[in-house]
Amino acid sequence: MSSDDRLDLEFAYTTYQDSCRDIYSPHYYCRRPVGHDDVHAAGFGPDRLRWDHQRDHLPHKVVEQQS
Ligand SMILES: [Zn+2]
Repeated sequence: MSSDDRLDLEFAYTTYQDSCRDIYSPHYYCRRPVGHDDVHAAGFGPDRLRWDHQRDHLPHKVVEQQS
């Protein structure tokens, strides 16, 4: 299972209320469960977006290596 497939599943099973909701932009907030490991993520298919967000810094887009 690819990391994109895993994210699709996480998004499908995480309600808005239980999601992290870290804001990347007005159109993207994190849909992973609150307290998740690793990067924040949002969007489906070609709109998939991952980002890192350190305290006191702007969100930083993370590009996943395609294998
Ligand atoms: Zn998050």
